[in-house]
Amino acid sequence: MKILLPRPVVTLWKDELRRAGRREIGGVLMGEAVAQDTFRIVEASVQRGGGTATSFVRDPRHHGEAIRAFHRRTGHDYTQFNYLGEWHSHPSFPTTPSRDDLAAMHELLADGRIGATFACLLIVRLRLFRRLDVGAYVFTPDGGMQLVTVVRER
Ligand SMILES: [Zn+2]
Repeated sequence: MKILLPRPVVTLWKDELRRAGRREIGGVLMGEAVAQDTFRIVEASVQRGGGTATSFVRDPRHHGEAIRAFHRRTGHDYTQFNYLGEWHSHPSFPTTPSRDDLAAMHELLADGRIGATFACLLIVRLRLFRRLDVGAYVFTPDGGMQLVTVVRER
């Protein structure tokens, strides 16, 4: 799977991560299907609360509202515009999923309420000189996880 990452989303993350300091923040990723197995991130919601220096817990209400608003804005065209997954920051750790992150993603897919056949997890980290590290993974309901290729758009 390939994810296209537009510059405004990168800028949003850099600003929000700097503001959050050593606290983890996160949100929902909404995507556009652009080709077979290729999605562009069109929106990343930001949940500023609920995180500590070592964990981020998604707020289902924030997530539900962000997803509903996105579907309204995109005319409920679910095949073109849909929920893509989750993102959060690791201010103090590399951009690989923690054991809690893996459990949360599997729980999310097992839940079935989101009705997704896969969900991505992007982990972002702000480095020196505003460089942004991005780790991207895709999870499937069978418990699988694979790396995702991230392509930064100009
Ligand atoms: Zn994490």
